[in-house]
Amino acid sequence: MQPQLDRLFTELGLQRFAQFEDGDLLVERSRQAPPLRTPGFASDPPSMRLVGGAGALVAALQARLDPAIVRTGQTVGRLRREDTHVELLVDDSAGQPPVWHVEQVLLALPSRLAATRLQFEPVLPAELARRWRATPTWMATHAKYVAVYDKPFWREQALSGSARSSIGPMGEIHDVSMPGGHAELFDFLGVPARVCGQVTNEDLRAHCRAQLVRLFGQQAAVPVGEALKDWAADPPTATHDDQDAVGQHAVAPARSADEGAWQGRLVGIGSEWSRQFPGYVAGAVDAAEAGVQQTLAALARKGLPQKEGSD
Ligand SMILES: Cc1cc2nc3c(=O)[nH]c(=O)nc-3n(C[C@H](O)[C@H](O)[C@H](O)COP(=O)(O)OP(=O)(O)OC[C@H]3O[C@@H](n4cnc5c(N)ncnc54)[C@H](O)[C@@H]3O)c2cc1C
Repeated sequence: MQPQLDRLFTELGLQRFAQFEDGDLLVERSRQAPPLRTPGFASDPPSMRLVGGAGALVAALQARLDPAIVRTGQTVGRLRREDTHVELLVDDSAGQPPVWHVEQVLLALPSRLAATRLQFEPVLPAELARRWRATPTWMATHAKYVAVYDKPFWREQALSGSARSSIGPMGEIHDVSMPGGHAELFDFLGVPARVCGQVTNEDLRAHCRAQLVRLFGQQAAVPVGEALKDWAADPPTATHDDQDAVGQHAVAPARSADEGAWQGRLVGIGSEWSRQFPGYVAGAVDAAEAGVQQTLAALARKGLPQKEGSD
């Protein structure tokens, strides 16, 4: 369904596998009744997962970059348009705020985050800034819980590991075991971000484990590992406006200013700027491709040299 992403994975030599869905699905409707067991339905086309997880994609991309041109641990705070260039003010982890002078800026982060957390001098055109801020970051309201086990014991009961619940805290559960690796159950918490933020991580984990026991039995009580990540509380992802859930993907806003000081200097290439797949990983590929083309065209118009092989 996302051919650009498929091509990129192939080019990077990343292995994929279909999410495990063989077996029955469990549905939790009420506290008074045991979970309902029903034949599962396989997604068509299947949901695909990366061997090694999403981190494998980051590592593969990083391996192709010259380490000398990568700077990490630097948070951009302010962008100032000077006569001949853009000045970036960066907060680095060592506490020394360095300044970068650049020709072009490609914003590889969600549009709402860019418009909310970055300070632009002069300010962006008002309508553009409003549209960027109004574009929700897909999934930013969500928290994920993962429980790791030695073996996928639910499969021995002909269960797929998939479950749906209207009791919670987990709303949707899947078996995300890695081939040849640990067995894992993963879920999205069905609790609003504002509520999640009021409960300690330890309490939330205990509620998640209790729910897995209700669904899959006593073996689920003692995972060998677990992780809880609340993306709504992650400042480089979510803003205050992302605390309220939105279900669908937003329509991509314009990725650059067509007037004023920022025209021809700034392009949004984060996933939310993708016209084809806004919010998805595939959207990040699509938006980056379109944004890089636009930037190269702007450089060519100015007659500036483009680095050889800079794809
Ligand atoms: C819970 C959850 C589940 C998801 N599930 C799926 C899924 O199943 N399939 C799918 O296709 N997509 C999924 N997504 C969406 C996917 O993660 C995004 O589409 C993708 O990460 C977007 O990539 P990006 O490069 O545009 O931006 P991001 O991945 O958001 O990267 C932005 C980067 O910019 C950095 N940054 C932020 N602010 C600054 C700053 N001021 N200075 C310097 N750096 C900064 C951040 O630290 C981050 O590294 C999910 C997202 C979430 C939160």
